[in-house]
Amino acid sequence: MRKFPVWLNILLGMSFGLVFGIFAVWLEWESFTNDWIKPWGTIFLNLLKLVAVPLVFVSLVKGITSLKDISKFRRIGLKTIVIYLVTTVFAICVGLVLVNSIKPGDVFPTEKKAEYSSKFSNTVEEKQQSAEKIKDESPLSFIVEIVPENIITSASKNSNMLQIIFVAVLFAIGMVLLPESKTHVVYGFFEGLNDIILKIVDIIMKAAPYGVFALMAALVVDFSGDKEIFIALGMYMITVIIGLLFLLLMVYPLLIRLVTGMKYMAFLKAILPSQLVAFSTSSSAATLPVNLRQCVVEFGVSKEVANFVLPVGVTVNMDGTSLYQAVAAVFIAQVFGIDLTFTQQLMIVLTALLSSIGSPGIPGGSIVMLIIVLNSVGIPVEGLALILGVDRLLDMLRTVVNVTGDVVVASIVEKSENKIGL
Ligand code: ASP
Repeated sequence: MRKFPVWLNILLGMSFGLVFGIFAVWLEWESFTNDWIKPWGTIFLNLLKLVAVPLVFVSLVKGITSLKDISKFRRIGLKTIVIYLVTTVFAICVGLVLVNSIKPGDVFPTEKKAEYSSKFSNTVEEKQQSAEKIKDESPLSFIVEIVPENIITSASKNSNMLQIIFVAVLFAIGMVLLPESKTHVVYGFFEGLNDIILKIVDIIMKAAPYGVFALMAALVVDFSGDKEIFIALGMYMITVIIGLLFLLLMVYPLLIRLVTGMKYMAFLKAILPSQLVAFSTSSSAATLPVNLRQCVVEFGVSKEVANFVLPVGVTVNMDGTSLYQAVAAVFIAQVFGIDLTFTQQLMIVLTALLSSIGSPGIPGGSIVMLIIVLNSVGIPVEGLALILGVDRLLDMLRTVVNVTGDVVVASIVEKSENKIGL
C-alpha cells in the first residue's frame, strides 16, 4: 500500500470497508463485524480524538504567538471570524433556497409520521432535555459557557472545544504581551510539543486506511436495517445532499481558484484525505490533525495562519451543518403543514448561524442545537424524530463540508496576508 498517495490509500480502505460491509450484511456476518472489525475503527477514532484537545491548544498558542505582535493577531482574528460568518450565512441561504423550491416535506408519506415519531421518541426526549437546559439559562449564557472555571474539566471533553479555544487564546495573548526574554523557554516548549503531536498524527495516519475500512464496514452493517427510512426520506436527503455538493464541488473550488489560482482537480486531490477522514469519522475535531497537515503541505498556507484559523474553525465554522439545519427546520415545518413567513425564515438564518457556532465538532454534535433553531420559530420539536433515522449519513457529508470550508477560509486569510498563489 505504501506506493500509493495518502488519499488513495484511505479511499481504498474506505471502498474495501464498504464492500466488506455489504458482504457482511449479505452473509449475515453482522455480529462478527461488530465484534471483530468495528473495535479497530473505534480505536482509530479514539486516537484521533485523543490528540484533538492538545492539538487545538498547542497549535492555537503556537499560531498566535508566532504572529508576534497583538495587532497582527487582532487583524487575522477579525478577518477569520468575518469570513467564517459570511460563508456560514451563505450556506444557510443555499439551504433555504433549496428546501423552499424542492419542498421535500410535501411529499413525505403521512403514515410514516406516526411510525417515526414513536420509534425515535426516546432520543428526541433526551436531546430535548439537553436543549431545555440551554434554553432556561440567561441569554448571555452562551458567553458564560465559553469561559470555564477549570481548565482540566474543559479539557476532559472534546465537545468543550470553545472553552479550550478561549483558554488557549488567553494564554497566547499573555505570552505575546510579555517581553521575549520571559517567554522564550515556554515558546520553545510549545514548539517541541507541537512537533511531537504532529509526529503522533503521522503515526496515527499510517493506520488510517485500516481505520476507515473498519469504520465503513461497521457503518454499512448499522445502516442495513433502515432501508425503508432512506426511501421515505429520500427527497429530504436529496435536498441536503444537493446543497452540500453545491458547496463542495462548485462554491469552494471557485473560491480557491479565484483566491490562489489552484486548479479544480488539484484542489479536490489536495483536500481529499481530510474529506475522507471527515466522512468516515463524522467529526471535525477528529479530522483537525489531517486537515492541518493538508492545509500547510498541499495548500501552502503558512503554519502561523493554519494554526490559528483551523482550530477555531473546528467549532465556529460549520457551513455544512448550518445548511443542513436550515433544510431540516423547514422540512419539518413542511411536514407539519406550517407555512413559514419571511421573518421566520430570517430567524432561521440567525439561529442556524449561532447554533452552528455552538455545535461541537463531534458526531451528531448539531442535533441538540437544531432543537433551538426549531424552538425559535415554533416548529414542533417532535419533528426531529422524522429525520434522526438518516442523520448519520448526512452527518458524514456535512462534516466533509465543514472541514473543507475551514481550509478554504484559511487559504483566503493566507492570501490576504502573505499573497500565496500559484
Ligand atoms: N459532525 C459535525 C462535525 O463534526 C457536526 C454536526 O453537524 O453534527 O463537524
